[in-house]
Amino acid sequence: MTPCFILPESVLAELARRDDPELRETALRTIAASASLRTQRTTFTQAVQQLGVGSAALAGLTPDSGERKSVYDVGHGTESDLSGELRRKEGGGPDPDGAVNEAYDGADRTHDFYREVFGRESVDGKEMELISSVHFGTDFDNAFWNGLQMVYGDGSGRVLAKGSLTKDIAVVAHEITHGVVQFTAGLRYRGQSGALNEHMADAFGSMCKQYVAHQAANEADWLIGAGVLGSALHGAALRSMKAPGTAYDLDNQPAHMKDYADTSEDNGGVHINSGIPNKAFYLAATGLGGFSWETAGKVWYHALSTKLGEDSDFKATADATVTSARELYGDKEAEIVSSAWTEVGVR
Ligand SMILES: [Zn+2]
Repeated sequence: MTPCFILPESVLAELARRDDPELRETALRTIAASASLRTQRTTFTQAVQQLGVGSAALAGLTPDSGERKSVYDVGHGTESDLSGELRRKEGGGPDPDGAVNEAYDGADRTHDFYREVFGRESVDGKEMELISSVHFGTDFDNAFWNGLQMVYGDGSGRVLAKGSLTKDIAVVAHEITHGVVQFTAGLRYRGQSGALNEHMADAFGSMCKQYVAHQAANEADWLIGAGVLGSALHGAALRSMKAPGTAYDLDNQPAHMKDYADTSEDNGGVHINSGIPNKAFYLAATGLGGFSWETAGKVWYHALSTKLGEDSDFKATADATVTSARELYGDKEAEIVSSAWTEVGVR
């Protein structure tokens, strides 16, 4: 499995092409570290998927019993050094390192969001331990879910702001949601199913942020990665679900099927075309009104956990959410969800 990164590699490649030797070196370092992750992770994740067992069991951890979170420090090591040195575990006090506590608190809020709103106990629904590692690599400009755990780089300051990735709850919840997707629909990380995987991570990431802030759908900023941009990037965030394509200067997300990107980059545009379902979710949530997680979120969660599969495309997801809205609520709600998908050209 390709690790699910928060920042698409196509952005790093674009920055590496600029006439700025220091920026090129910075971007290439993260690209190189990401490439080695890809080859090393395959075997383990394939084993998880083929055996159909929780990855915690494969990692030799104790059987599930209640909520468990832990944060490790990789000490600027790479893949072979994961998870790293244990710095904080369930029930333990704060660590002197702020990044450790941010990763811990973010995982805690995301865990509680899933339990309180959707009745889901951790990513696998069976209290699989939420493991996070901080200080991955050297100035590593990304965060990712590797099939087993969350991993956060420090950021170089040029591409991503130093120490920013653990500060945005939408980023933390985005990564954890990749775990939820892995244990539910298993949306394959390529093409439309991959864009839907990214979309789910953004939608539940944004909802978790709104839940923590107790914001109604029409009050929220709908941004993913607010405050994470480094000095070489300009804008408000990495993505905007409300206005895809406007979050920052290299944001190339479409908001409508007529602008769908047919590309081989980014696993077939998984971080690009996710703008289309992202906009549909925003429209559905604001159309339904109130808190996004109360109605739209439950509709999406129902579709994700009971109707979608690894090869589901945009059309199938539109149909699944409309059906879910009708099953959970009624014709009026189904019509609002249907209109949202029509507005982005999917249905
Ligand atoms: Zn992602």
